[in-house]
Amino acid sequence: MILLYHHILPEGDAAGLSDEDGLFFRHSPEAFRFHLEELQRRGYRFGSLDGLVRQIDDGIAEDERSAFVTFDDGWRNQYEHALPILRALGIPATFFVTTDHLRKGVSCTKRMGPAELGALVDAGMTIGSHTRTHPDLVRLDDTRLEEELRGSRQDLEDLLGRPVTLFAYPGGSLSARVVRAVRRAGYEAACSSFGPARNDATSIFWLYRDVISASMQSPRDRYRLSPVARQLLTFRVERRLRASLHRRA
Ligand SMILES: [Zn+2]
Repeated sequence: MILLYHHILPEGDAAGLSDEDGLFFRHSPEAFRFHLEELQRRGYRFGSLDGLVRQIDDGIAEDERSAFVTFDDGWRNQYEHALPILRALGIPATFFVTTDHLRKGVSCTKRMGPAELGALVDAGMTIGSHTRTHPDLVRLDDTRLEEELRGSRQDLEDLLGRPVTLFAYPGGSLSARVVRAVRRAGYEAACSSFGPARNDATSIFWLYRDVISASMQSPRDRYRLSPVARQLLTFRVERRLRASLHRRA
């Protein structure tokens, strides 16, 4: 199970963010910590996403009780509020960040800059690309698509001095053409957000990710977290995937 998070913020603290920044996808630090500890209690083992990708490359599907933490959009609150919890629990995570604000002379207080990204890497976290400007990739022409995919990878590799192999589609939006471009740009795997399903070699360029609600106690959460139910949910997720892949733009 690959978990997808956006904002980790204390209750009542909007940190200058608005709904345009996807603020409705927020969890408090307490809820985030509760998720991780509760999953451990239920027997889930946390691993790194690159480890899962290597395992899948070796022909072994995702374990039913393995869990992987990912964050999208590179918000500074992930560094401030999620990193300390991940470190305390010894759990690795992958952060998919946009790179437009990392250019020289640009400053963005809402998002992580070079110092925070460097600190994440030093803490054993993985940085993946989430494009330069977070466009709907399906709507871009080939030249701009290439620029967003290759350009953001290059930006991060120049900054971090290490290979960047993982990608996440902005807004989860993809098509067969976009997937081909992601492969051509040199990524080894990419994350979608279609929902709960088990990952294997067939999903390496649209790895399924879940969003779990704060309480983790609702019937919907219980259902989604049950390995048996996840098998049943797979057909629905795959239907969504097929609709996306065949989308024209
Ligand atoms: Zn995003």
